[in-house]
Amino acid sequence: MKRLTGTTIAILLALLFVLISAGIGVGAVVRGVRDLRGEEPVRTTQVLQLTTETATRKTTTTTKKTTTKKPSTTKKTTAAKKTAAAKKTTTAKKTATSQKTTTTKKATTSGKTTTQKKTTAKKTTTKKASTTKKALAAKKTTQKADGSKVIYLTFDDGPGPYTDKLLGILDKYGVKATFFVTNCCPDYQACIAKEYRAGHAVAVHTYSHDYSRIYRSTSAYWADFNRMNDLVKKQTGKPTIMFRFPGGSSNTVSRNYKSGIMTKLVRQAGEKGLTYYDWNVSCGDAGGADTSEEVYRNIVRAVKEQKKSIVLCHDVKSYTVNAMDKTIRWCLDHGYTFEVLVPGGYTVHHGVSN
Ligand SMILES: [Zn+2]
Repeated sequence: MKRLTGTTIAILLALLFVLISAGIGVGAVVRGVRDLRGEEPVRTTQVLQLTTETATRKTTTTTKKTTTKKPSTTKKTTAAKKTAAAKKTTTAKKTATSQKTTTTKKATTSGKTTTQKKTTAKKTTTKKASTTKKALAAKKTTQKADGSKVIYLTFDDGPGPYTDKLLGILDKYGVKATFFVTNCCPDYQACIAKEYRAGHAVAVHTYSHDYSRIYRSTSAYWADFNRMNDLVKKQTGKPTIMFRFPGGSSNTVSRNYKSGIMTKLVRQAGEKGLTYYDWNVSCGDAGGADTSEEVYRNIVRAVKEQKKSIVLCHDVKSYTVNAMDKTIRWCLDHGYTFEVLVPGGYTVHHGVSN
């Protein structure tokens, strides 16, 4: 029994093993059939899908990682680029700044140079001007030495409304003139002082310039003369010994008031130590010329004819004063020099006719 029991148990165990094995095999077959029916393939697919998903996930992760990595790389790259760009920018800026600085420096230098050039130009101009002045002075001296081409501009009957303008023109060219003054325009008497201070010569022409009064008698003439000389003294600080007869020493108008008066007056002037000055050039403004152009042409034409010209003008005539700028410029351009009349110096005397 025991042996049977053992054998039976062995057999039973074997059978069990076979049965169990068969059972598993059947299950597998059933499962396989099910799979063929499409029940399990779903799972398989699912698994497969899951696997794919996992793989995808993995891939995604990898990709993500890559992506993630990439941004870092990008970041790095960006950072590198930024740094590079920054460096470049900095370098560029520095270069630009440096260039700017250089440019500025250049500009400054150029500016300085310009300023220096200007200064130099100014200096040159000043030097030139002074050289010109020196040359003119030398010319004057030369001309004075050889006594050629001298003009004595003389202005009678003022001072008047145009005298101040005339003084401005004369001053502009550094030209000195001689003024034979009257009291015809009392409001302008202060111009006498101005003339004198500017270096012009001031001489008497008479106080009233009234022919009927002054040429009535010698005493009347000298009374009028002294009255004017008092005004000259008041304006300049000293009386003058220079004068000009109204109408000149050759005038014949005086015959209407006193026969032979000019002969007497000329002699008495010498006795008094006074010098009178007539003229050898008339600008024509006492009769005939009444425009600046005529005054200019009359002077230019006449001064060419002689080495020393005492030019008769009237500063109470606006067109005469207006002609002076052009006239003086022409004379200077043609080598003439201007001088003032002085006691004992050059003079012109007309022939006495009365
Ligand atoms: Zn006069």
